[in-house]
Amino acid sequence: FLSVSHLNISFNGNTVIKDLSFNIKKGTLTSFLGPSGSGKTTVLRAIAGLNQAFAGQIMLDGQDITNLQPNQRNIGMIFQSYALFPNLTVFDNIAYGLRVQKKSKAEIEKAVTDMLAVIGLTERRDYYPANLSGGQRQRVAIARSMVLEPKLLLLDEPLSALDAKTRVELRNQIKRYQQELGITMIFVTHDQTEAMAISDDVLIMSLGELEQQGSAMDIYTNPKTMFVADFIGNHN
Ligand code: ATP
Repeated sequence: FLSVSHLNISFNGNTVIKDLSFNIKKGTLTSFLGPSGSGKTTVLRAIAGLNQAFAGQIMLDGQDITNLQPNQRNIGMIFQSYALFPNLTVFDNIAYGLRVQKKSKAEIEKAVTDMLAVIGLTERRDYYPANLSGGQRQRVAIARSMVLEPKLLLLDEPLSALDAKTRVELRNQIKRYQQELGITMIFVTHDQTEAMAISDDVLIMSLGELEQQGSAMDIYTNPKTMFVADFIGNHN
């Protein structure tokens, strides 16, 4: 469904991603794990079309998207810091992208109302971001991406600014959305427990290279490299 082939990315002559290739199946959640600086965010940005120059090919749903503009890719991206519009209500934040797409008023009302129910914030539809908790804000950020029905949703450490209890709640919710709505997701995290809890597949990177891709169970029981064995062993 998503196929990244021979991705090479350098910054100022410094190679950050080295001949990286992997596939992701439709409707699955894949976590990217790896030490700080291993290139996880750089890969997400390349998939989203936010890196200037790189070599390689990216196919999504049978289409070569390597050279498409970010807004032509049908990919949603959510970051650690939830960039909601502070002057718009919850409803209007979620509706924003649909309005840009010139959807009808009735369609927007239905889509946003449904999405508010999914994220459990129906009662907060007229609140402004400043009056929401961090977890609620991040749920709005996720809803705002999901309502556009992206083919692929990229989440870059979406929970790291939240307290432990909210993180667990929200990660379970993300898993539920992914299963119920059949969205294909890539989830970058530092937290192995989090990755193992929600992923169909885990992809482990080190220094811009793929160390191993497989189910959580597969990686735990059969680490293919010393790096993976160490990484798993040291981060529990
Ligand atoms: P973290 O877990 O800390 O977020 P990461 O695995 O996401 O790390 P990246 O942010 O992808 O790592 O960074 C990978 C490497 O690329 C780092 O060494 C970083 O310094 C370098 N890098 C990323 N973006 C740029 C840039 N715009 N210019 C120069 N170097 C960059």
